[in-house]
Amino acid sequence: MPSSAVLPANDLPAALESVLVSEADIKNRLRKLGAEIAALYGDQEITVVAVINGAILFTADLLRHIDNPVRLDCIRVSSYRNETKSTGKPQVLGHLSLDLANRHVLLIDDILDTGKTLSLIVGMIKKLQPASVRTCVLLDKRGRREVEFEADFVGFQIPDKFVVGYGLDYAERYRNLPCIGVLKSHLQNPPEWA
Ligand code: 5GP
Ligand code: MG
Repeated sequence: MPSSAVLPANDLPAALESVLVSEADIKNRLRKLGAEIAALYGDQEITVVAVINGAILFTADLLRHIDNPVRLDCIRVSSYRNETKSTGKPQVLGHLSLDLANRHVLLIDDILDTGKTLSLIVGMIKKLQPASVRTCVLLDKRGRREVEFEADFVGFQIPDKFVVGYGLDYAERYRNLPCIGVLKSHLQNPPEWA
């Protein structure tokens, strides 16, 4: 087992080839996104379902800009494992703990890529007969869609690049970066992580 000293620094300039969305961009956009969401729901209660682990940071910060009554649940989906390309077969792991029947559900994920993950979860949620289901993603790689899917709320459109930071990982690392950027290629598949 290697010591943590051999792991690449979680330091922004060291780990990232480029920054696509800065910490300030995220802060500004979340304030507006929160206001858009609050305006659409009026005084209704929202049942938020966050897709973990990726949407943890985004959900935590976004919810602080929504003053509606909110219930929060999480759902875990596996799709990437330790790769930078989707395995193409997302699987829902575990169960929701809240009852969604007749509730206004807002599903939150970090990034919309092929669309397979969110279509799978929306399909599953619809079977539970909610009053409504909407989706919110921080990032959207629109050019990568393999199934037809558009989110109701989008933070940023980004190009087709594998990104990390602000909740998004590579092999569970880099989620704690405050901005979002492209990981340097030599940090993908380093032998010391095997
Ligand atoms: P989809 O099912 O839409 O292809 O993929 C959605 C999931 O794939 C996201 O929730 C995220 O976990 C993962 N994903 C897609 N693109 C990226 C990316 O550029 N970086 C990271 N870290 N994860 C991604
Ligand atoms: Mg995810």
